[in-house]
Amino acid sequence: MIIEEHKSLKDYNTFGIDVNARYFISVTSISQLREVLNSDVHKTHLLLGGGSNILFTKDVDALVIHMDIKGIKEEVLDDNHVLLHINAGENWHNLVRYCVDKNYGGIENLSLIPGNAGTAPIQNIGAYGVEIKDVLVGCTVMDIATGELKELTAKECEFGYRDSIFKNKAKGKYIIVSIELKLTRKEHHIRTDYGAIQNELESANCFTPTIRDVSDAVIRIRQSKLPNPKELGNGGSFFKNPVISAKEFDVFHNAHPNAPYYKVGEKEYKIPAGWLIDNAGLKGYRKGDAGVHKKQALVLVNYNAASGKDIIQLAYYIQEKVADKYGITIVPEINIL
Ligand SMILES: Cc1cc2nc3c(=O)[nH]c(=O)nc-3n(C[C@H](O)[C@H](O)[C@H](O)COP(=O)(O)OP(=O)(O)OC[C@H]3O[C@@H](n4cnc5c(N)ncnc54)[C@H](O)[C@@H]3O)c2cc1C
Repeated sequence: MIIEEHKSLKDYNTFGIDVNARYFISVTSISQLREVLNSDVHKTHLLLGGGSNILFTKDVDALVIHMDIKGIKEEVLDDNHVLLHINAGENWHNLVRYCVDKNYGGIENLSLIPGNAGTAPIQNIGAYGVEIKDVLVGCTVMDIATGELKELTAKECEFGYRDSIFKNKAKGKYIIVSIELKLTRKEHHIRTDYGAIQNELESANCFTPTIRDVSDAVIRIRQSKLPNPKELGNGGSFFKNPVISAKEFDVFHNAHPNAPYYKVGEKEYKIPAGWLIDNAGLKGYRKGDAGVHKKQALVLVNYNAASGKDIIQLAYYIQEKVADKYGITIVPEINIL
């Protein structure tokens, strides 16, 4: 077991923030994970996957456990279904392309989302009309207190919009060590109902798309809209889309009749946070090396040497401007440490 000290995490977070971990280890097996948890290297630990949903604002005085347990097992369930058991350290997008190559359908709309497969259930990753909850059958977790493994069904994961039990009552209780996805082998449910996919496919003269066509289209759309973290540090959507009451919505809608919105249930409305920021004149705003992306106002970027604190200051500024202009509070989707 090799534990490094004072390790830079710059290459382990997509914002590219240069902070140090007091101790650091990449774990490649469940037994190693258990051994690390039992060790007395440090009284606290921090789990790290692909570092694509985390903003470091200071050095991490803990043992950082980088989840690098790899491996995929396949189990044919019937003529039309396969069950994949995927270890937590597999890269999500590589998994999507593995499935596309094998003609396993269900996650092609989730192409190019960064991070680990094992982290995907935590915020119930979603894009272009699909969420991981649509195909996740369950996951295997390690109870941090006992080191024991436990199976959780999808229902027990209590999924919601960018939400799950792992962000709420089970926060800090479990480590996800593997996930199980049920995918189609023949009768794929091709989802192009999100306008952008349909348009992208049509402009490529593709009228009977395969799952590969959908994955490729999603990749092209995302590449045209979102900054590649390898070229420009960022953590994807920084804020959640706020959900407001019908009463608040009436006030908002009267003042901003052209603003987009989605009805959520009977009494609530979701407003795209990106629109709120953009319409407040902040798209492309930059302070030092921290900025709002030029094409996508929901994405904050590190132009080069921004610190986590610079990004946070910018986020506060945005929150204040949005609250002043619309009376709506937007909160970060990303984990801030
Ligand atoms: C450019 C870009 C685009 C993005 N687009 C999308 C999108 O379209 N849709 C979407 O939903 N998300 C999107 N995201 C957010 C991000 O990709 C997801 O949240 C992803 O699931 C995070 O995975 P990760 O391994 O990088 O997590 P990390 O950032 O490493 O960790 C996130 C949190 O999970 C904890 N954690 C990590 N591994 C485990 C584990 N095995 N068990 C328990 N806890 C763990 C960490 O301690 C931390 O609190 C995007 C991010 C970027 C940078």
